[in-house]
Amino acid sequence: MPAVIPPTVDRGNDWFWDGVAERKLLIQRCARCGLLRRHGAPMCGSCHSVESDTQESTGRGTIHSWIVSKHPTEPDADDRIVVLVELEEGIRLVSNLVDADPGEVENEQAVELCFETYGDVTLPQFRLVR
Ligand code: ZN
Repeated sequence: MPAVIPPTVDRGNDWFWDGVAERKLLIQRCARCGLLRRHGAPMCGSCHSVESDTQESTGRGTIHSWIVSKHPTEPDADDRIVVLVELEEGIRLVSNLVDADPGEVENEQAVELCFETYGDVTLPQFRLVR
């Protein structure tokens, strides 16, 4: 079993993974009005344009919510802390929190972006700001 399932890259999310390959966390932005969109939104929630470009995130944010994920069939698999991060740009993103124990995690804690590589897959992840 692979450590992570490789992402499915398509025409709708290739901009995100191109950014990850360059170790950048990109946010989709409306090309007409400039409103930032949540990841994967097909059109602007304000002006309804489907045209978009991107903006690089600072990678700073806070934990909006979190859970500990346990693998359902592999008892020896490491637990993961899954976080819903509110980026300082106001966009929320689901990711993993690395180098932390569940007992030290709380909502509203400051986190920062890092990139972790698992085999051939690099993912944007977050660490607590200590
Ligand atoms: Zn717009």
